[in-house]
Amino acid sequence: MTIKLYTNQNNPATLKLIIANNFSSSKVKIDIEIVNLQDLKTCGAKHLPVLEINNEQSIFMSNAAACYFLPPSENNSFAINELLEWEATVLSPHLAYVFGCSIKNEKIKNTLLSALNKLNTTLENKYFLVGDTVTVADIVIWSSLYPLIKSTELSKEYLSVLTNISGWFLKLYDQGQFKDAVAEFRMETGQTSYNALFIGARYFTPASSGDTVIKEKESPQHHAEAVNSSEVLAAKKAWQKDFRTLPKPKGRTNVVLPGVGEKNVLITSALPYVNNVPHLGNIIGCVLSADVFARFSRLCNYNTLYISGTDEYGTATETKALEEGLSCQAICDKYFSIHNDIYKWFNISFDYFGRTSTPQQTELCQDLFLQLNNNGFMFTQSIEQLHCEQCDRYLADRFVEGGCPNVGCNYEDARGDQCDGCGKLVNAVELKNPRCKICSSKPKLRTSNQFFIDLPKLEPLLHHWMKISSPGGRITRKS
Ligand SMILES: [Zn+2]
Ligand SMILES: [Zn+2]
Repeated sequence: MTIKLYTNQNNPATLKLIIANNFSSSKVKIDIEIVNLQDLKTCGAKHLPVLEINNEQSIFMSNAAACYFLPPSENNSFAINELLEWEATVLSPHLAYVFGCSIKNEKIKNTLLSALNKLNTTLENKYFLVGDTVTVADIVIWSSLYPLIKSTELSKEYLSVLTNISGWFLKLYDQGQFKDAVAEFRMETGQTSYNALFIGARYFTPASSGDTVIKEKESPQHHAEAVNSSEVLAAKKAWQKDFRTLPKPKGRTNVVLPGVGEKNVLITSALPYVNNVPHLGNIIGCVLSADVFARFSRLCNYNTLYISGTDEYGTATETKALEEGLSCQAICDKYFSIHNDIYKWFNISFDYFGRTSTPQQTELCQDLFLQLNNNGFMFTQSIEQLHCEQCDRYLADRFVEGGCPNVGCNYEDARGDQCDGCGKLVNAVELKNPRCKICSSKPKLRTSNQFFIDLPKLEPLLHHWMKISSPGGRITRKS
């Protein structure tokens, strides 16, 4: 394994990596190369230090690189990561701005002072920041403070009363791993060092200085939209409200029925097709967003019912069944249980997760269809559709493939609904040289009669129904 560390001179962030490696049980030899930021052509990222592993992987966030050598143990990882984030977003940028550049700003300086105060309080009666041994949190914070503490002048000004910090710093310094690192990477202290940090890291200006350093011209319209004082007061009041003063959420029941005089909320996420193993995109875009709303709704003590289920009818199922050589039923059974397990694993708080193929669901759908049909809300219309004689069936869009009809795209394997070559929608009957996905023979155009729901005719009825079933209620559609 070859480990290369590119750094500019005097950068305290580099110290983190060397110390962390010294603590690693599988300590490696680090080849340090002093470079300037402008020389950094090979590593991609314009940050220093950069750790390059085996000539292929490079880590340019110094805390991540330190964790590469000394990962936080599982039981302490939360506390350690919190400190690492604080070091990366508060401590380090403020040190770099206050001591490492020419921008002088009282607000940034004050934020740094309160950050140091906070650290001093955290270290009260403690040898280490987390647990009872050196962790990567001690290492990164120690390294960032090294140039400050080692500068007699700065240390006197900033740390003379913060004795917990100095005590902790000196105790760690006594350990060989810290001493060796300082001997290996010789650094100047004070402003020179923080200037190296400032140049290497390219920090954003700390937020606390936003109003003086970067000030955008405000348009008059901006002022009109600004929040007024009563809104600020209301927000402050809401913020200070303790959760303990809120009414206790009532427990969940197995069966959720609408309650009279209650706010009844029915939540259904989009029904996932039963033809895949759900990935994070499915979770985030579908069941999780509804889950968040369901949890919010329950916290408000609304009578909440969150249901979903696998969408099992349709060509998606048929295509997958053909692909896997299974019956549609077998495909649905297989993928329903995969979906069900995954959502359980993610702790999605469904009150009921079902399937569209249950007898109740089937009966309900057929009843809806018949009622619509018997009451004149359906009409038929003949449309042209591709038909495969060999297979003796009309081909749903996904069962036809052929040349993309979109101008400029010569993709040969476009599907009847979409072309993966250009990403555009396709009209199945417009495919060039269409072929049946099942038997590859050439389908022919035939007219067939299809049912359509007469939506304009149905609409006033829907509005009426919504009014009587839930006064003031509305159906909100997601996606
Ligand atoms: Zn195309
Ligand atoms: Zn065919």
